[in-house]
Amino acid sequence: MERVIAVANQKGGVGKTTTAVQLAAFLAQHGHPTLLVDLDPQANATSSLGVERHALAGTVYEALLAPERTSAVVVPSVRPGLDLLPSTGILAGAEVELVTANQREFRLRMALGQLAERYAVVLIDCPPSLGLLTVNALVAARFVLVPIQCEYLPLEGLAQLVTTVDLVKRRLNPPLDVIGVVLTMFDARTRLALQVVQEVRRVFGARAFRTVIPRAVRLAEAPSHGQTIFEYDPSSRAATAYAELGRELLDRLGLPATCEPLAVAHD
Ligand code: ADP
Ligand code: MG
Repeated sequence: MERVIAVANQKGGVGKTTTAVQLAAFLAQHGHPTLLVDLDPQANATSSLGVERHALAGTVYEALLAPERTSAVVVPSVRPGLDLLPSTGILAGAEVELVTANQREFRLRMALGQLAERYAVVLIDCPPSLGLLTVNALVAARFVLVPIQCEYLPLEGLAQLVTTVDLVKRRLNPPLDVIGVVLTMFDARTRLALQVVQEVRRVFGARAFRTVIPRAVRLAEAPSHGQTIFEYDPSSRAATAYAELGRELLDRLGLPATCEPLAVAHD
């Protein structure tokens, strides 16, 4: 699984889901068959794409408990080239049930292994904790992408995340690497935001993406319409910023900026 990316930060409200959803939409639009995995019991990625809970054949919960069922619970073509492994609140139980499961840290990796060759990129939207679900994401992933909110000095919480990533890398998943940190909710009018940008660039150097995502009300509105920012307001600054970030990500992944649109190969 060369291009499985966990979007992780144990703090809630930093832009994980927004970033995972917009990047997944961007990659699919640019011809890279993409799977978005909603690994959060809050299921915000699932609802952001307008996928209704009652329409689901199953969720990532079933995939974790029975990896051979993964294909059956993927929602195909939520957008052209974009599939979704959805979530619902029921996933909250998985964190507890998995504790006693065989190979409990490897369940998502096993689930995604079932789909291996179908996608150019898999993005995993992690829950706001460093519990077993996030560990499953870090074990399944080749890369971690860390959104950091520009609105408070974040480095204390980040140390914990970095420690967890290092631990998973040493014990469970040696190839794991941070592909980048992205600053979100940037408001140039606040002094703090500028300080956070400086501090993150000082600490992370070239790991920090050049693109900074602005605070933009359109980004907060789009999910309630079940739309991505590229659908809701394609000419907005926010759409431009996420497209820019998408191009940086493709570059870091060694993928071309645009491919001939390829359909996902479904069974
Ligand atoms: P997380 O997944 O880390 O909890 P979200 O992506 O759900 O964070 O973002 C938290 C809230 O902030 C959501 O309501 C979302 O719509 C909103 N939001 C995310 N990014 C931005 C942004 N750049 N500007 C304004 N609002 C944003
Ligand atoms: Mg979220």
